[in-house]
Amino acid sequence: MTELTQDSLAQEPLAQESMAQESMAQESAQVRDDEQPDHQVLIVGAGFGGMGAGIAFKRLGIDDIAILERCDDLGGTWHVNHYPGLAVDIASVTYSYSFEPNPNWSRLFAPGAELKRYAEHVADKYDLKRHMEFDTAVTAAHWDDEQRLWRVTTAGGETRTARYLVTATGFLSQPHTPDFPGIDTFAGRILHTTAWEDGYDFAGRRVAVIGTGATAVQLIPEIASRADELTVFQRTPIWVVPKVDFPIPPPVRTLFRRFPLTQRAARVVNTSMLEMLMVVGVLHFRQAKLGNKAAALLARAHLRVQVRDRATRRKLTPEYDFGCKRPTFSNSYFASFNRPSVRLQTSPIVRVEPDGIVCADGTKAEIDTLVLATGFNLWDVNFPAFEIVGREDRNLGQWWRESRFQAYEGITMPRFPNMLSLNSPYSYSGLSYFTTIEGQMRHIARLFGEVRRRGADTFEVTDAANTEFLDDMTHKLESSVFYDGNCSGSRSYYFNQHGEATLLRPTATLRTLREMNSFPLDAYTYR
Ligand code: NAP
Repeated sequence: MTELTQDSLAQEPLAQESMAQESMAQESAQVRDDEQPDHQVLIVGAGFGGMGAGIAFKRLGIDDIAILERCDDLGGTWHVNHYPGLAVDIASVTYSYSFEPNPNWSRLFAPGAELKRYAEHVADKYDLKRHMEFDTAVTAAHWDDEQRLWRVTTAGGETRTARYLVTATGFLSQPHTPDFPGIDTFAGRILHTTAWEDGYDFAGRRVAVIGTGATAVQLIPEIASRADELTVFQRTPIWVVPKVDFPIPPPVRTLFRRFPLTQRAARVVNTSMLEMLMVVGVLHFRQAKLGNKAAALLARAHLRVQVRDRATRRKLTPEYDFGCKRPTFSNSYFASFNRPSVRLQTSPIVRVEPDGIVCADGTKAEIDTLVLATGFNLWDVNFPAFEIVGREDRNLGQWWRESRFQAYEGITMPRFPNMLSLNSPYSYSGLSYFTTIEGQMRHIARLFGEVRRRGADTFEVTDAANTEFLDDMTHKLESSVFYDGNCSGSRSYYFNQHGEATLLRPTATLRTLREMNSFPLDAYTYR
Protein backbone atom coordinates (compact mmCIF):
# COMPACT_ATOMS: atom_id res chain seq x y z
CA MET A 1 0.00 0.00 0.00
CA THR A 2 1.08 3.53 -0.75
CA GLU A 3 2.08 4.83 2.61
CA LEU A 4 3.92 1.85 4.07
CA THR A 5 6.13 1.71 1.03
CA GLN A 6 6.53 5.45 1.26
CA ASP A 7 7.76 5.15 4.82
CA SER A 8 10.10 2.28 4.08
CA LEU A 9 11.62 4.25 1.22
CA ALA A 10 12.26 7.05 3.68
CA GLN A 11 14.87 4.92 5.45
CA GLU A 12 17.22 5.01 2.49
CA PRO A 13 17.91 8.73 2.51
CA LEU A 14 18.43 8.53 6.26
CA ALA A 15 21.40 6.23 5.72
CA GLN A 16 22.86 8.59 3.14
CA GLU A 17 22.22 11.49 5.44
CA SER A 18 24.31 10.17 8.29
CA MET A 19 27.15 9.37 5.86
CA ALA A 20 26.98 12.89 4.55
CA GLN A 21 27.16 14.60 7.91
CA GLU A 22 30.84 15.13 8.44
CA SER A 23 32.10 16.47 5.17
CA MET A 24 29.14 18.76 4.54
CA ALA A 25 29.58 20.32 7.95
CA GLN A 26 33.26 20.88 7.28
CA GLU A 27 32.68 22.43 3.86
CA SER A 28 32.45 25.97 5.16
CA ALA A 29 35.75 25.54 6.98
CA GLN A 30 37.70 24.55 3.87
CA VAL A 31 40.69 26.74 3.29
CA ARG A 32 40.16 28.52 -0.01
CA ASP A 33 40.89 31.90 -1.37
CA ASP A 34 37.32 32.58 -2.10
CA GLU A 35 34.67 34.34 -0.08
CA GLN A 36 33.04 32.33 2.66
CA PRO A 37 29.26 32.61 2.65
CA ASP A 38 27.32 33.87 5.66
CA HIS A 39 25.34 30.64 5.66
CA GLN A 40 25.64 27.23 4.12
CA VAL A 41 21.93 27.14 3.45
CA LEU A 42 19.46 29.99 3.24
CA ILE A 43 15.82 28.97 3.17
CA VAL A 44 13.14 31.51 2.28
CA GLY A 45 9.89 30.71 4.05
CA ALA A 46 9.10 29.19 7.45
CA GLY A 47 6.04 27.20 6.46
CA PHE A 48 5.87 23.43 6.24
CA GLY A 49 7.97 23.44 3.04
CA GLY A 50 10.78 25.52 4.53
CA MET A 51 10.71 23.51 7.74
CA GLY A 52 10.85 20.24 5.80
CA ALA A 53 13.91 21.52 3.93
CA GLY A 54 15.46 22.58 7.25
CA ILE A 55 14.94 19.08 8.62
CA ALA A 56 16.42 17.53 5.46
CA PHE A 57 19.60 19.64 5.79
CA LYS A 58 19.89 18.94 9.50
CA ARG A 59 19.72 15.23 8.74
CA LEU A 60 22.66 15.85 6.39
CA GLY A 61 24.57 17.35 9.31
CA ILE A 62 24.29 20.91 8.03
CA ASP A 63 23.41 23.23 10.86
CA ASP A 64 24.52 26.54 9.37
CA ILE A 65 21.03 27.35 8.15
CA ALA A 66 19.11 30.62 8.05
CA ILE A 67 15.37 30.54 7.53
CA LEU A 68 14.09 33.97 6.53
CA GLU A 69 10.37 34.58 6.86
CA ARG A 70 8.49 37.72 5.82
CA CYS A 71 5.74 37.18 8.43
CA ASP A 72 6.12 37.65 12.16
CA ASP A 73 5.85 33.95 12.95
CA LEU A 74 6.23 30.47 11.48
CA GLY A 75 3.60 28.23 9.91
CA GLY A 76 3.15 29.77 6.45
CA THR A 77 -0.42 29.46 5.29
CA TRP A 78 -1.47 28.25 8.73
CA HIS A 79 -0.11 31.38 10.33
CA VAL A 80 -1.48 33.78 7.72
CA ASN A 81 -4.97 32.27 7.50
CA HIS A 82 -7.18 32.34 10.58
CA TYR A 83 -10.63 33.11 9.21
CA PRO A 84 -13.63 31.43 10.87
CA GLY A 85 -14.21 27.89 9.65
CA LEU A 86 -10.60 27.34 8.59
CA ALA A 87 -9.73 23.65 8.59
CA VAL A 88 -7.70 21.25 6.50
CA ASP A 89 -9.42 19.74 3.50
CA ILE A 90 -7.18 16.68 3.40
CA ALA A 91 -7.71 14.43 6.45
CA SER A 92 -5.11 15.19 9.10
CA VAL A 93 -3.72 11.66 9.26
CA THR A 94 -2.45 12.38 5.73
CA TYR A 95 -1.93 16.14 5.99
CA SER A 96 1.14 15.94 8.26
CA TYR A 97 4.74 14.75 7.96
CA SER A 98 4.79 10.94 7.78
CA PHE A 99 7.81 10.93 10.11
CA GLU A 100 6.05 13.15 12.65
CA PRO A 101 2.51 11.84 13.11
CA ASN A 102 0.34 13.79 15.51
CA PRO A 103 -1.92 11.59 17.62
CA ASN A 104 -3.68 14.65 19.06
CA TRP A 105 -5.78 15.86 16.12
CA SER A 106 -9.21 16.66 17.52
CA ARG A 107 -11.07 15.87 14.30
CA LEU A 108 -10.53 13.89 11.14
CA PHE A 109 -10.14 17.26 9.38
CA ALA A 110 -8.32 19.35 11.97
CA PRO A 111 -9.17 23.04 12.45
CA GLY A 112 -6.56 25.55 11.25
CA ALA A 113 -5.40 26.47 14.77
CA GLU A 114 -4.26 22.87 15.32
CA LEU A 115 -2.12 23.03 12.18
CA LYS A 116 -0.47 26.15 13.52
CA ARG A 117 0.22 24.34 16.82
CA TYR A 118 1.56 21.34 14.91
CA ALA A 119 3.94 23.65 13.00
CA GLU A 120 5.16 25.04 16.34
CA HIS A 121 5.67 21.52 17.65
CA VAL A 122 7.68 20.48 14.60
CA ALA A 123 9.83 23.63 14.81
CA ASP A 124 10.57 22.89 18.48
CA LYS A 125 11.19 19.19 18.09
CA TYR A 126 13.52 19.58 15.11
CA ASP A 127 15.27 22.59 16.61
CA LEU A 128 14.34 24.88 13.75
CA LYS A 129 13.28 27.99 15.65
CA ARG A 130 16.79 29.21 16.35
CA HIS A 131 17.41 29.37 12.59
CA MET A 132 14.36 31.48 11.88
CA GLU A 133 14.33 35.22 11.37
CA PHE A 134 10.91 36.80 11.14
CA ASP A 135 9.76 40.03 9.51
CA THR A 136 12.53 39.50 6.99
CA ALA A 137 11.21 39.64 3.44
CA VAL A 138 13.60 38.55 0.72
CA THR A 139 13.45 40.82 -2.32
CA ALA A 140 16.08 39.34 -4.65
CA ALA A 141 18.70 36.64 -5.04
CA HIS A 142 21.63 36.75 -7.46
CA TRP A 143 24.06 33.95 -8.20
CA ASP A 144 27.74 34.86 -8.03
CA ASP A 145 29.37 32.31 -10.27
CA GLU A 146 32.90 33.29 -9.38
CA GLN A 147 32.39 32.81 -5.66
CA ARG A 148 29.82 30.07 -6.18
CA LEU A 149 27.28 31.51 -3.80
CA TRP A 150 23.96 33.32 -3.68
CA ARG A 151 23.68 36.99 -2.74
CA VAL A 152 20.30 37.50 -1.18
CA THR A 153 18.85 40.92 -0.43
CA THR A 154 16.08 41.68 2.02
CA ALA A 155 13.49 44.44 2.23
CA GLY A 156 15.54 45.92 5.05
CA GLY A 157 18.38 46.52 2.57
CA GLU A 158 20.60 43.82 4.03
CA THR A 159 22.59 41.38 1.84
CA ARG A 160 23.29 37.82 2.93
CA THR A 161 25.33 35.23 1.15
CA ALA A 162 24.68 31.52 1.12
CA ARG A 163 26.17 28.53 -0.64
CA TYR A 164 22.73 27.02 -1.17
CA LEU A 165 19.41 28.77 -1.67
CA VAL A 166 16.05 27.13 -1.02
CA THR A 167 12.86 28.95 -1.91
CA ALA A 168 9.87 27.70 0.06
CA THR A 169 7.56 30.63 -0.52
CA GLY A 170 4.37 28.65 -1.06
CA PHE A 171 1.97 28.43 -3.97
CA LEU A 172 -0.86 30.37 -2.38
CA SER A 173 1.02 33.16 -0.70
CA GLN A 174 0.40 36.27 -2.81
CA PRO A 175 -3.17 37.39 -2.00
CA HIS A 176 -5.26 38.52 -4.93
CA THR A 177 -7.37 41.65 -4.44
CA PRO A 178 -9.36 42.44 -7.56
CA ASP A 179 -9.36 46.05 -8.62
CA PHE A 180 -13.14 46.55 -8.81
CA PRO A 181 -14.01 50.08 -9.92
CA GLY A 182 -14.92 52.16 -6.89
CA ILE A 183 -13.58 49.73 -4.29
CA ASP A 184 -11.59 52.56 -2.72
CA THR A 185 -14.80 54.46 -2.05
CA PHE A 186 -16.38 51.67 -0.02
CA ALA A 187 -17.33 53.15 3.34
CA GLY A 188 -17.70 49.90 5.29
CA ARG A 189 -15.17 47.30 6.39
CA ILE A 190 -13.17 45.28 3.86
CA LEU A 191 -11.71 41.98 5.04
CA HIS A 192 -9.46 39.80 2.87
CA THR A 193 -9.43 36.22 4.08
CA THR A 194 -5.63 36.34 4.41
CA ALA A 195 -5.78 39.43 6.65
CA TRP A 196 -8.60 38.44 8.93
CA GLU A 197 -9.64 40.55 11.88
CA ASP A 198 -10.16 37.99 14.64
CA GLY A 199 -13.38 38.45 16.54
CA TYR A 200 -14.99 40.63 13.87
CA ASP A 201 -18.65 40.56 14.80
CA PHE A 202 -20.96 39.81 11.89
CA ALA A 203 -24.12 40.06 14.00
CA GLY A 204 -26.44 42.72 12.58
CA ARG A 205 -24.26 43.16 9.49
CA ARG A 206 -25.13 43.14 5.79
CA VAL A 207 -22.26 41.26 4.29
CA ALA A 208 -20.97 40.46 0.80
CA VAL A 209 -18.56 37.61 0.14
CA ILE A 210 -16.83 37.75 -3.24
CA GLY A 211 -15.49 34.40 -4.36
CA THR A 212 -16.60 30.78 -4.08
CA GLY A 213 -13.29 28.91 -3.86
CA ALA A 214 -12.24 26.52 -1.10
CA THR A 215 -11.76 29.41 1.34
CA ALA A 216 -15.25 30.82 0.72
CA VAL A 217 -16.74 27.34 1.04
CA GLN A 218 -15.40 27.16 4.60
CA LEU A 219 -16.19 30.76 5.50
CA ILE A 220 -19.68 31.25 4.05
CA PRO A 221 -21.53 28.91 6.48
CA GLU A 222 -19.86 30.72 9.39
CA ILE A 223 -20.91 34.17 8.18
CA ALA A 224 -24.35 32.97 7.07
CA SER A 225 -25.12 31.82 10.59
CA ARG A 226 -24.26 35.21 12.10
CA ALA A 227 -24.93 38.01 9.63
CA ASP A 228 -28.30 39.70 9.11
CA GLU A 229 -27.90 39.45 5.36
CA LEU A 230 -25.32 37.77 3.18
CA THR A 231 -24.87 38.13 -0.57
CA VAL A 232 -22.45 35.70 -2.16
CA PHE A 233 -20.91 36.87 -5.44
CA GLN A 234 -20.07 33.83 -7.52
CA ARG A 235 -18.24 34.05 -10.83
CA THR A 236 -17.50 30.33 -11.27
CA PRO A 237 -19.17 27.57 -9.21
CA ILE A 238 -17.02 24.96 -7.48
CA TRP A 239 -17.48 21.20 -7.24
CA VAL A 240 -18.24 20.32 -3.62
CA VAL A 241 -18.42 16.78 -2.29
CA PRO A 242 -19.58 15.67 1.17
CA LYS A 243 -17.05 15.89 3.96
CA VAL A 244 -16.92 12.80 6.15
CA ASP A 245 -15.67 14.54 9.23
CA PHE A 246 -16.05 13.76 12.93
CA PRO A 247 -14.28 14.36 16.24
CA ILE A 248 -11.58 11.79 16.94
CA PRO A 249 -12.65 10.25 20.27
CA PRO A 250 -10.06 10.37 23.09
CA PRO A 251 -9.71 6.53 23.17
CA VAL A 252 -8.71 6.59 19.47
CA ARG A 253 -6.17 9.34 20.14
CA THR A 254 -4.78 7.22 22.96
CA LEU A 255 -4.62 4.27 20.59
CA PHE A 256 -2.72 6.40 18.04
CA ARG A 257 -0.33 7.55 20.76
CA ARG A 258 0.33 4.10 22.22
CA PHE A 259 0.33 2.15 18.97
CA PRO A 260 1.54 4.50 16.20
CA LEU A 261 1.07 1.72 13.65
CA THR A 262 -2.70 2.19 13.96
CA GLN A 263 -2.39 5.81 12.87
CA ARG A 264 -0.12 4.75 10.05
CA ALA A 265 -2.77 2.30 8.91
CA ALA A 266 -5.37 5.10 8.95
CA ARG A 267 -2.96 7.19 6.88
CA VAL A 268 -2.51 4.41 4.35
CA VAL A 269 -6.26 4.00 3.94
CA ASN A 270 -6.94 7.73 3.59
CA THR A 271 -3.99 8.42 1.30
CA SER A 272 -4.97 5.53 -0.94
CA MET A 273 -8.51 6.86 -1.30
CA LEU A 274 -7.24 10.32 -2.20
CA GLU A 275 -4.79 8.79 -4.59
CA MET A 276 -7.59 6.96 -6.36
CA LEU A 277 -9.53 10.19 -6.74
CA MET A 278 -6.52 12.05 -8.05
CA VAL A 279 -5.02 9.41 -10.31
CA VAL A 280 -8.24 7.99 -11.66
CA GLY A 281 -10.41 11.08 -11.66
CA VAL A 282 -7.90 13.70 -12.76
CA LEU A 283 -4.63 12.36 -14.16
CA HIS A 284 -6.00 9.40 -16.13
CA PHE A 285 -9.17 11.11 -17.21
CA ARG A 286 -8.89 9.76 -20.76
CA GLN A 287 -8.63 6.15 -19.60
CA ALA A 288 -11.05 6.38 -16.68
CA LYS A 289 -13.73 8.92 -17.49
CA LEU A 290 -16.23 6.95 -15.45
CA GLY A 291 -14.31 7.61 -12.24
CA ASN A 292 -14.39 11.32 -12.96
CA LYS A 293 -18.08 11.25 -13.84
CA ALA A 294 -18.83 9.34 -10.62
CA ALA A 295 -17.17 12.06 -8.56
CA ALA A 296 -19.21 14.72 -10.37
CA LEU A 297 -22.35 12.66 -9.80
CA LEU A 298 -21.62 12.49 -6.08
CA ALA A 299 -21.22 16.28 -5.95
CA ARG A 300 -24.47 16.79 -7.90
CA ALA A 301 -26.34 14.42 -5.58
CA HIS A 302 -24.92 16.29 -2.60
CA LEU A 303 -26.20 19.57 -4.04
CA ARG A 304 -29.60 18.01 -4.82
CA VAL A 305 -30.00 16.83 -1.25
CA GLN A 306 -28.84 20.09 0.30
CA VAL A 307 -30.42 22.86 -1.76
CA ARG A 308 -34.18 23.08 -2.13
CA ASP A 309 -34.43 25.75 -4.83
CA ARG A 310 -33.89 24.46 -8.35
CA ALA A 311 -32.69 27.81 -9.79
CA THR A 312 -30.09 28.10 -7.02
CA ARG A 313 -28.97 24.53 -7.64
CA ARG A 314 -28.52 25.31 -11.30
CA LYS A 315 -26.37 28.33 -10.50
CA LEU A 316 -24.26 26.28 -8.11
CA THR A 317 -23.58 23.54 -10.66
CA PRO A 318 -20.25 23.81 -12.50
CA GLU A 319 -20.21 23.41 -16.26
CA TYR A 320 -16.60 22.27 -16.39
CA ASP A 321 -15.37 18.77 -15.57
CA PHE A 322 -14.65 17.64 -12.03
CA GLY A 323 -10.98 18.17 -11.20
CA CYS A 324 -10.26 21.05 -13.63
CA LYS A 325 -10.28 23.23 -10.57
CA ARG A 326 -9.51 22.03 -7.10
CA PRO A 327 -12.76 20.51 -5.76
CA THR A 328 -13.59 20.88 -2.11
CA PHE A 329 -15.43 19.17 0.74
CA SER A 330 -18.23 20.63 2.85
CA ASN A 331 -21.46 19.58 4.50
CA SER A 332 -22.66 23.09 5.27
CA TYR A 333 -21.75 25.26 2.25
CA PHE A 334 -24.66 24.37 -0.04
CA ALA A 335 -27.15 24.35 2.83
CA SER A 336 -26.28 27.99 3.60
CA PHE A 337 -28.15 28.98 0.46
CA ASN A 338 -31.43 27.71 1.95
CA ARG A 339 -31.37 30.51 4.51
CA PRO A 340 -33.73 33.37 3.66
CA SER A 341 -30.96 35.79 4.64
CA VAL A 342 -28.50 34.40 2.05
CA ARG A 343 -28.58 35.38 -1.63
CA LEU A 344 -26.48 34.02 -4.47
CA GLN A 345 -25.53 36.66 -7.04
CA THR A 346 -24.08 35.47 -10.32
CA SER A 347 -24.39 38.64 -12.35
CA PRO A 348 -20.93 40.16 -12.89
CA ILE A 349 -19.81 42.92 -10.54
CA VAL A 350 -19.78 46.30 -12.28
CA ARG A 351 -18.64 48.58 -9.48
CA VAL A 352 -18.41 49.06 -5.77
CA GLU A 353 -20.12 52.10 -4.23
CA PRO A 354 -19.70 53.46 -0.70
CA ASP A 355 -22.65 51.41 0.52
CA GLY A 356 -22.89 48.49 -1.85
CA ILE A 357 -22.06 46.49 -4.96
CA VAL A 358 -23.71 47.12 -8.32
CA CYS A 359 -24.00 44.25 -10.79
CA ALA A 360 -24.47 44.00 -14.53
CA ASP A 361 -28.14 43.07 -14.08
CA GLY A 362 -28.69 46.53 -12.55
CA THR A 363 -29.21 45.31 -9.00
CA LYS A 364 -27.36 46.70 -6.04
CA ALA A 365 -26.55 44.75 -2.89
CA GLU A 366 -26.46 47.18 0.02
CA ILE A 367 -23.76 46.11 2.41
CA ASP A 368 -21.59 47.34 5.26
CA THR A 369 -18.97 44.55 5.22
CA LEU A 370 -17.11 43.29 2.16
CA VAL A 371 -15.27 39.98 2.46
CA LEU A 372 -12.77 39.24 -0.29
CA ALA A 373 -12.38 35.47 -0.60
CA THR A 374 -10.68 36.14 -3.90
CA GLY A 375 -7.75 33.82 -3.49
CA PHE A 376 -4.21 34.21 -4.68
CA ASN A 377 -2.21 35.29 -7.66
CA LEU A 378 -0.02 32.36 -8.60
CA TRP A 379 1.22 32.98 -12.08
CA ASP A 380 1.83 36.72 -12.30
CA VAL A 381 3.52 37.53 -9.02
CA ASN A 382 4.53 34.11 -7.72
CA PHE A 383 6.83 31.82 -9.69
CA PRO A 384 9.14 33.11 -8.33
CA ALA A 385 7.98 35.23 -5.42
CA PHE A 386 10.99 37.56 -5.77
CA GLU A 387 13.62 38.30 -8.39
CA ILE A 388 16.05 35.43 -8.91
CA VAL A 389 18.95 35.76 -11.32
CA GLY A 390 21.11 32.75 -11.97
CA ARG A 391 24.15 31.93 -14.09
CA GLU A 392 24.58 33.79 -17.38
CA ASP A 393 22.16 36.39 -15.98
CA ARG A 394 19.19 34.14 -16.49
CA ASN A 395 16.22 35.74 -14.77
CA LEU A 396 13.98 32.96 -13.50
CA GLY A 397 10.64 34.77 -13.81
CA GLN A 398 11.47 36.02 -17.28
CA TRP A 399 12.78 32.66 -18.44
CA TRP A 400 9.70 30.82 -17.16
CA ARG A 401 7.41 33.26 -18.92
CA GLU A 402 9.34 33.52 -22.17
CA SER A 403 10.06 29.82 -22.60
CA ARG A 404 7.81 27.52 -20.57
CA PHE A 405 7.21 27.01 -16.87
CA GLN A 406 9.51 24.12 -16.01
CA ALA A 407 11.61 22.62 -13.25
CA TYR A 408 13.45 19.31 -13.18
CA GLU A 409 11.56 16.97 -10.82
CA GLY A 410 9.72 20.13 -9.77
CA ILE A 411 12.71 21.39 -7.81
CA THR A 412 15.74 22.59 -9.87
CA MET A 413 16.29 24.63 -13.02
CA PRO A 414 19.25 24.88 -15.43
CA ARG A 415 21.42 28.03 -14.91
CA PHE A 416 20.35 28.15 -11.28
CA PRO A 417 23.18 26.34 -9.51
CA ASN A 418 22.83 25.45 -5.84
CA MET A 419 19.20 26.42 -5.81
CA LEU A 420 16.17 24.35 -4.86
CA SER A 421 12.79 25.81 -5.63
CA LEU A 422 10.17 23.94 -3.63
CA ASN A 423 7.17 25.66 -5.18
CA SER A 424 7.92 25.10 -8.81
CA PRO A 425 6.04 24.02 -11.90
CA TYR A 426 5.22 20.28 -11.69
CA SER A 427 6.19 20.10 -8.02
CA TYR A 428 2.77 19.83 -6.44
CA SER A 429 1.48 16.30 -6.01
CA GLY A 430 -2.09 17.59 -5.82
CA LEU A 431 -2.79 15.59 -2.72
CA SER A 432 -1.46 16.49 0.69
CA TYR A 433 1.21 19.16 0.39
CA PHE A 434 3.27 16.98 2.72
CA THR A 435 3.66 14.41 -0.05
CA THR A 436 5.30 17.13 -2.15
CA ILE A 437 7.58 18.22 0.68
CA GLU A 438 8.65 14.71 1.60
CA GLY A 439 9.49 13.87 -2.00
CA GLN A 440 11.61 17.00 -2.14
CA MET A 441 13.33 16.09 1.13
CA ARG A 442 14.36 12.83 -0.52
CA HIS A 443 15.63 14.70 -3.56
CA ILE A 444 17.73 16.93 -1.31
CA ALA A 445 19.15 13.92 0.55
CA ARG A 446 20.12 12.10 -2.65
CA LEU A 447 21.51 15.16 -4.40
CA PHE A 448 23.58 16.36 -1.46
CA GLY A 449 24.80 12.83 -0.80
CA GLU A 450 26.31 12.92 -4.30
CA VAL A 451 27.68 16.46 -3.90
CA ARG A 452 29.47 15.27 -0.78
CA ARG A 453 30.68 12.03 -2.36
CA ARG A 454 32.31 14.00 -5.17
CA GLY A 455 33.81 16.55 -2.80
CA ALA A 456 31.97 19.24 -4.78
CA ASP A 457 30.20 22.31 -3.51
CA THR A 458 28.17 23.26 -6.56
CA PHE A 459 25.49 21.44 -8.51
CA GLU A 460 23.35 22.36 -11.47
CA VAL A 461 20.75 20.39 -13.37
CA THR A 462 21.61 19.78 -17.02
CA ASP A 463 19.54 21.14 -19.89
CA ALA A 464 19.11 17.60 -21.19
CA ALA A 465 17.66 16.22 -17.95
CA ASN A 466 15.39 19.22 -17.58
CA THR A 467 14.09 18.95 -21.14
CA GLU A 468 13.50 15.23 -20.84
CA PHE A 469 11.53 15.74 -17.63
CA LEU A 470 9.48 18.55 -19.17
CA ASP A 471 8.67 16.42 -22.20
CA ASP A 472 7.62 13.58 -19.95
CA MET A 473 5.34 15.83 -17.88
CA THR A 474 3.85 17.37 -21.02
CA HIS A 475 3.17 13.94 -22.48
CA LYS A 476 1.64 12.56 -19.27
CA LEU A 477 -0.65 15.54 -18.92
CA GLU A 478 -2.19 14.86 -22.32
CA SER A 479 -4.53 12.27 -20.85
CA SER A 480 -5.42 14.34 -17.79
CA VAL A 481 -8.69 16.15 -17.31
CA PHE A 482 -6.85 19.40 -17.98
CA TYR A 483 -6.35 18.59 -21.66
CA ASP A 484 -8.73 15.75 -22.37
CA GLY A 485 -11.65 17.08 -20.36
CA ASN A 486 -13.70 20.22 -20.58
CA CYS A 487 -11.92 22.82 -18.48
CA SER A 488 -12.93 25.87 -20.46
CA GLY A 489 -14.61 28.36 -18.20
CA SER A 490 -13.20 26.79 -15.05
CA ARG A 491 -10.79 29.70 -14.44
CA SER A 492 -8.57 27.25 -12.63
CA TYR A 493 -5.31 28.31 -11.06
CA TYR A 494 -3.88 24.97 -12.20
CA PHE A 495 -3.46 26.70 -15.58
CA ASN A 496 -0.84 29.38 -16.13
CA GLN A 497 -1.22 32.51 -18.25
CA HIS A 498 -0.25 30.53 -21.37
CA GLY A 499 -3.11 28.09 -20.80
CA GLU A 500 -0.80 25.26 -19.75
CA ALA A 501 -1.57 23.18 -16.67
CA THR A 502 1.90 23.35 -15.18
CA LEU A 503 1.22 23.21 -11.47
CA LEU A 504 0.50 19.55 -10.75
CA ARG A 505 2.95 16.73 -11.24
CA PRO A 506 0.99 14.16 -13.24
CA THR A 507 2.37 11.06 -11.57
CA ALA A 508 1.07 8.91 -8.76
CA THR A 509 2.40 9.67 -5.28
CA LEU A 510 4.26 6.41 -4.97
CA ARG A 511 5.96 6.93 -8.30
CA THR A 512 6.89 10.53 -7.46
CA LEU A 513 8.48 9.38 -4.22
CA ARG A 514 10.32 6.58 -5.99
CA GLU A 515 11.66 8.96 -8.62
CA MET A 516 12.80 11.42 -5.98
CA ASN A 517 14.80 8.60 -4.41
CA SER A 518 16.28 7.31 -7.65
CA PHE A 519 16.68 10.14 -10.19
CA PRO A 520 19.88 9.70 -12.24
CA LEU A 521 22.74 11.45 -10.50
CA ASP A 522 24.14 12.53 -13.86
CA ALA A 523 21.07 14.73 -14.26
CA TYR A 524 23.33 17.21 -12.50
CA THR A 525 26.79 18.59 -13.13
CA TYR A 526 29.01 19.06 -10.08
CA ARG A 527 31.86 21.45 -9.44
P1 NAP B 1 -9.47 30.43 -5.16
O1 NAP B 1 -9.77 29.01 -5.24
O2 NAP B 1 -8.56 31.03 -6.15
O3 NAP B 1 -10.86 31.20 -5.23
C1 NAP B 1 -10.94 32.57 -5.41
C2 NAP B 1 -12.38 32.94 -5.68
O4 NAP B 1 -12.47 34.34 -5.89
C3 NAP B 1 -12.91 32.26 -6.93
O5 NAP B 1 -14.23 31.89 -6.73
C4 NAP B 1 -12.78 33.37 -7.97
O6 NAP B 1 -13.68 33.26 -9.03
C5 NAP B 1 -13.13 34.57 -7.12
N1 NAP B 1 -12.63 35.78 -7.74
C6 NAP B 1 -11.33 36.15 -7.91
N2 NAP B 1 -11.28 37.32 -8.56
C7 NAP B 1 -12.56 37.68 -8.84
C8 NAP B 1 -13.14 38.78 -9.51
N3 NAP B 1 -12.40 39.74 -10.03
N4 NAP B 1 -14.49 38.82 -9.59
C9 NAP B 1 -15.23 37.85 -9.06
N5 NAP B 1 -14.75 36.77 -8.42
C10 NAP B 1 -13.42 36.69 -8.31
O7 NAP B 1 -8.91 30.86 -3.72
P2 NAP B 1 -9.24 30.22 -2.31
O8 NAP B 1 -10.68 29.97 -2.13
O9 NAP B 1 -8.56 31.07 -1.31
O10 NAP B 1 -8.56 28.81 -2.36
C11 NAP B 1 -7.26 28.65 -2.89
C12 NAP B 1 -6.74 27.31 -2.55
O11 NAP B 1 -6.35 27.31 -1.20
C13 NAP B 1 -7.69 26.16 -2.65
O12 NAP B 1 -7.83 25.66 -3.93
C14 NAP B 1 -7.07 25.17 -1.76
O13 NAP B 1 -6.04 24.49 -2.44
C15 NAP B 1 -6.46 26.04 -0.71
N6 NAP B 1 -7.31 26.09 0.45
C16 NAP B 1 -7.23 25.07 1.29
C17 NAP B 1 -7.98 25.10 2.39
C18 NAP B 1 -7.82 24.01 3.31
O14 NAP B 1 -7.24 23.04 3.08
N7 NAP B 1 -8.32 24.13 4.43
C19 NAP B 1 -8.85 26.11 2.66
C20 NAP B 1 -8.92 27.14 1.80
C21 NAP B 1 -8.13 27.13 0.70
P3 NAP B 1 -13.25 32.45 -10.34
O15 NAP B 1 -13.27 31.01 -9.94
O16 NAP B 1 -14.25 32.82 -11.34
O17 NAP B 1 -11.87 32.92 -10.70
